[in-house]
Amino acid sequence: MTNVSEIYGSEVFNDHVMQERLPSETYKTLSKTIKEGKPLDIDVANVVAHAMKEWAIEHGATHYTHWFQPLSGITSEKHDSFLNPKSDGTAIMTFSGKELIQGEPDASSFPSGGLRATFEARGYTAWDPTSYAFIKAEVLCIPTAFCSYTGEALDKKTPLLRSMRVVDEQAQRVLKFFGEEGHRVMTTVGSEQEYFLISEKDYEKRPDLMWTGRTLFGAPPCKGQELEEHYFGAIRPTVNNFMKELDDDLWALGISAKTKHNEVAPAQHELAPIFTNTNRAIDENLLTMEKMRLNATHHGLACLQHEKPFEGINGSGKHNNWSLSYDNVNLLDPGDTPMDNLRFLVFLTCVIEAVDEYQELLRMSVASAGNDHRLGANEAPPAIISIFLGDELGAIVDALISGDEYHSAERVSMDLGVAVLPKFLKDNTDRNRTSPFAFTGNKFEFRMPGSTVNLSDCNMILNTAMAKSLKDFADAMADTTKETFEKQAIKYIKKTLADHQRIIFNGDGYSDEWTAEAERRGLANHKNTAEALPCFVDKKSIDLFEEFGVLSETEVRSRYEVKLDKYTKLLNIECNVMIHMARRMYLPAIGDYMADVANTINSVKTALSGVDMSEHESVLNYLVKGNNAAAACVRTLMKVHDEAEAIEDLQEQANFYADTVIPAMDALRAEIDALEPVVESSYWPVPSYNDILFYN
Ligand code: ADP
Ligand code: MG
Repeated sequence: MTNVSEIYGSEVFNDHVMQERLPSETYKTLSKTIKEGKPLDIDVANVVAHAMKEWAIEHGATHYTHWFQPLSGITSEKHDSFLNPKSDGTAIMTFSGKELIQGEPDASSFPSGGLRATFEARGYTAWDPTSYAFIKAEVLCIPTAFCSYTGEALDKKTPLLRSMRVVDEQAQRVLKFFGEEGHRVMTTVGSEQEYFLISEKDYEKRPDLMWTGRTLFGAPPCKGQELEEHYFGAIRPTVNNFMKELDDDLWALGISAKTKHNEVAPAQHELAPIFTNTNRAIDENLLTMEKMRLNATHHGLACLQHEKPFEGINGSGKHNNWSLSYDNVNLLDPGDTPMDNLRFLVFLTCVIEAVDEYQELLRMSVASAGNDHRLGANEAPPAIISIFLGDELGAIVDALISGDEYHSAERVSMDLGVAVLPKFLKDNTDRNRTSPFAFTGNKFEFRMPGSTVNLSDCNMILNTAMAKSLKDFADAMADTTKETFEKQAIKYIKKTLADHQRIIFNGDGYSDEWTAEAERRGLANHKNTAEALPCFVDKKSIDLFEEFGVLSETEVRSRYEVKLDKYTKLLNIECNVMIHMARRMYLPAIGDYMADVANTINSVKTALSGVDMSEHESVLNYLVKGNNAAAACVRTLMKVHDEAEAIEDLQEQANFYADTVIPAMDALRAEIDALEPVVESSYWPVPSYNDILFYN
């Protein structure tokens, strides 16, 4: 049995450790830096670095690294030892303030979208003291931002931190009208991570899983998820052991892994931590994903984090639960008193406005080759952004817009002119799994992100769009007095809600009627990544990011390019792997089986002249036809793949992949999958869905 309180946070240089190990003056200065974002001077950094090193060495560390998130979205690290040799042949362990604050990795191999020419290859990493340093595999990891020498952000963290700062500034302006001053407003995130665990032996036999993270071929299994027995089912011992080790490791890293359970699909699971501030929540999510992948191998398992590892089986998402708060006050909590209610309605209205105004950007932030298989596939939210408020809150918003009296479920009527909300809102447990952006009592749950994605992009957009709505509100209220504020605020809420009502939808997001209705309402419906990305560089988007200093136009354009590049590169790899598997594995195996069936027919006919072999002959015919069709599909795929790779303009190339190459990939898969149930299983070159999805 693990003593949780003993191991919790034991590998983290957290506030408790800082207080214990730093001289009180240093601790005070560092706390100020962390809380207020003040710069740290080198003398203080030297003291902190020394304490950090001593602590790290006591915990078995020999190296340190600046841990950062380049535009690829994953984490990067380069280990340097603390070792410092002396002229007398001995060595000491050192770590300076300068080494803590700033690093200079050779950045030439990280994606930059043209921001950094190779001759200016240096980038620098800068310590982010708002996320704690921690020890991982004997390395002291220091969370850092990553920038080019000319100051442009080359990572996911920098714009996220900028967006957290601007939403804080604007939220504080709004809170002043409510007499609440001087509190730092934080956005909070709790991310639910879905993943698959399969046997490592099966994984190693499938080049598609190893090289692309998903199966590019595979006929449906005899049994899928239709019995829904896996959801919340008893966890099998192998997986349980994996989860237990994972919990222990995460707790030691101060990550509050809270909930674990089996998901709907066979072999699918979920882990949810307790929410924290957005910056730390994302660092924690990335660490969690890394631990999952590495620890799986200790149990003979492979962890699949792709959004759609298996066709016909639910894919994996990463729900982004999001709210804003100061101290312990959650600003999306409806509250009990009229003034709290009004504040809630103001923040709610600003969220609705932000999501409607920047719906395309939000959709863009979760677009990827992998997530294209999920969104709109009746298992995940559609590609259309809408907001679910639930019946009660929906009715209140309707009443505010129409000016009618509001009647609660209990038929209590209320005059919303004084903004009194019914108490039951908090327990509003309405669930609508089909909504991409759902109000869940005191937070919003953004359900579009895929399991692989780094959540920085969507939160950076959410925060910046929210900052814009809050700013517009604060500007509009500038001339109000204590006496007139309430009336003016309600007027503003009513008008803004009326303007953005189209984004609210409480019905079934999977239905065809919704797609048609959404189109009538003028909501965007970008079906794939190639369609979703261009809005990033629209004037409206660039204006938003520049107005708040979250991204410069150059930074926006570079990020757009990196996303396009990643999309086409992934599809290029998928094409290579498909062609490789078809030509070197499937077609030869089908050929072998064909020859065996033909031999059987011939030898039986020789033994028994005139015998009826029509069943075997029909199988042979089916195999020959299927084999020829598959071979033709391979030729077509090779041709369009070559055409795609020859296109120079990145957006055009992405469009061509989406419109022409993907259908050719689908066609090849359909032919091979149709042969799988007919070919005797010992001939089949890779484990089938039946083998992979059900194991002990
Ligand atoms: P589910 O969506 O499966 O019902 P829960 O309601 O238990 O899950 O919560 C999902 C996630 O939401 C958890 O990670 C939780 O910590 C997080 N969460 C709860 N309150 C907030 C909040 N104020 N801000 C951000 N995340 C929150
Ligand atoms: Mg959820």
